[in-house]
Amino acid sequence: MTTTRHRVAARMIAALGALSLLAACSGNGGGGSGGDASSYPDQNITIVVPFSAGGPTDTVTRMIAEPMAAKLGGKIVVQNVEGAGGTVGAGEVSQADPDGYTVLMHHIGMSTAPALYKNLDYKPLEDFKMVGLVTEVPMTVVARKDFAPATLQDLVAHVKANADKVTLANAGIGAASHLCGLLFQTAAGVKLQEVPYQGTGPALTDLVGGQVDFMCDQTTNTSGQIAAGKVKAYAVTTPERVKSLPDLPTTAEAGLSQLQVSVWHGLYVPADTPDEIVQKLSEALKVALADQGVIDQMAKLGTAPVPAEDATPQAHRAKLEEQLGTWAKIIADAGVTVS
Ligand code: ASP
Repeated sequence: MTTTRHRVAARMIAALGALSLLAACSGNGGGGSGGDASSYPDQNITIVVPFSAGGPTDTVTRMIAEPMAAKLGGKIVVQNVEGAGGTVGAGEVSQADPDGYTVLMHHIGMSTAPALYKNLDYKPLEDFKMVGLVTEVPMTVVARKDFAPATLQDLVAHVKANADKVTLANAGIGAASHLCGLLFQTAAGVKLQEVPYQGTGPALTDLVGGQVDFMCDQTTNTSGQIAAGKVKAYAVTTPERVKSLPDLPTTAEAGLSQLQVSVWHGLYVPADTPDEIVQKLSEALKVALADQGVIDQMAKLGTAPVPAEDATPQAHRAKLEEQLGTWAKIIADAGVTVS
């Protein structure tokens, strides 16, 4: 993990703290019971995306699906199972046959849901094996293009003065957009009316259409609309500017240094999936992340694959453990729960 990521995590804690408002093969619990590893795969693999088609999680998944399938020698189908900030899709995969044919792509929301949902029907560390990390995506603060505020500072002043009118879109409680929105509200010291969607794909469509005022969303979803001038972009939520959006200031440059978050993604399988199958998936993930086409597509959308050593069950589990602890504290301090 880089120093930058540590810095980002530290700043996230600092920001929300102020409001008093995320298995290794060997560590995954052993061999498991499903699936024949030697012939794997001999049928289609489904990767479940727990958000809408066309959104950022979906985009990253579709980018890696083809090169992964080529390495595995099979076909990968992407299925969107939306709802409740990604918890419906994650819950479904936790109950799936542990045979390697149902895989989950999830993001930072895997680490926040246990603290947010009192009745969550899965336990991230116990009900899944981790396959590997995928990418860590910056977010942008974006608004409908005719929204009055011109800069991030103006946006803060505007939402404070119009808190009862301004609408903040997100992809449901525990989604990355929801977390970033919480950070924004904390940093700005304001409570806004939130409008939840099944993913930021449809949320961005409504933002472009002017039905909601603003939101945080990943560069993998917003880059095209920013470049086309269809939304107004205020800042990127990472310590450094994003190469593909060179004119966009960082939140720190724009005067809101507490608003720092980037969205890590990983692949999961049900906990009893055999380690040999997890290993095959992890190897395929590494190949996909080294694919020049994937690297280029990600770069255009403001992100990059994780280094090969992070596309492993071990690194993924360590990240999840660390992030679960981090977010439990932030969310407890924030006092946000859903029944
Ligand atoms: N991952 C996005 C979010 O958490 C939602 C999406 O992928 O549509 O906000």
